[in-house]
Amino acid sequence: MTNQIYGCKLVLMRNEKEPKTLQEAIIYFAKPDNCLSYLVARRWHSEVVCPTCGRTGARFLANQRKWQCKSVHHHRQFSVKVGTIFEDSPIGLDKWLMAMWMIANCKNGISSYEVARDLGVTQKTAWFMLHRIRLALQDEDGGKLGGEVEVDETFIGGLSRNMHISKRRAKIMGTGGRDKVAVLGILKRRGKVRTSVIPDVTRQTLRGKVLENVSAGSQVFTDAWVAYTGLNAEYVHNVIDHARAYAIENVHTNGLENYWSLLKRGIKGTYVSVEPFHLFRYLDEQAFRFNNREGLDDCGRFDVALSQVIGKRLTWNKLTGKAGDTQIN
Ligand SMILES: [Zn+2]
Repeated sequence: MTNQIYGCKLVLMRNEKEPKTLQEAIIYFAKPDNCLSYLVARRWHSEVVCPTCGRTGARFLANQRKWQCKSVHHHRQFSVKVGTIFEDSPIGLDKWLMAMWMIANCKNGISSYEVARDLGVTQKTAWFMLHRIRLALQDEDGGKLGGEVEVDETFIGGLSRNMHISKRRAKIMGTGGRDKVAVLGILKRRGKVRTSVIPDVTRQTLRGKVLENVSAGSQVFTDAWVAYTGLNAEYVHNVIDHARAYAIENVHTNGLENYWSLLKRGIKGTYVSVEPFHLFRYLDEQAFRFNNREGLDDCGRFDVALSQVIGKRLTWNKLTGKAGDTQIN
């Protein structure tokens, strides 16, 4: 880092030890200059780049913590928040980074009520912050999964919770009530999980999702649900009939069963209720922690999350599906 980028003061701050634990993060990110240098170093690496025109060499305005682009075509000043999920937010980076640290690392997730208490913001603000962070946590790897892959679906929501799975499936095959949502999971054993909200559990829907996410020739493991029949055209399809046994040697969907219980514990315990409209964001959050569970400490997981904040926006209206100008503060 050069003086040209940060100004002398920030260069000195860079020498301060970066946090490894929650306790160190609280102390470290309490200083605005630390927040700025931490994010700048990860966003721009060696040179600050103007988000409007792509020029380098912007002048740092230390007292505003902003940069002035040297372009003669526009006279824009920009902060490190511009072009990220933090853009246009009046909430300071200190609060944003702590919320991000917590959500990246709390195993069962963290509710907007807890974030509101811990950071001293309103619950509504905390809720909006968490949803913006979840946008950053979305899996960016679009490639297909291969090898040994488990596929299973589950239902999340009210009335169907205590119903036998065959009855739930029969109900979902219809119009699909508002209170329950079908979710498909695809898990590469000893690897990544992908989950998505699906409109129904018909053969057409399930098959489409599997073809989209699993490379041909892979070993696919499912239960005996009739909608999975026909997968043996593209895959080595292994079926476990749960009416007979939960596992026969390596033929089972236990990896996903375990994942569903983790997911449901998080949703029931932490979030109390999740509207179907927002469910996919909770799915993204849980999948992020699961997929980054190995080989990373808390700081490493936080850095992965932070590396995904760029080029994404989530406005209040888009989040709530409402028109109008609701102000968040
Ligand atoms: Zn510029």
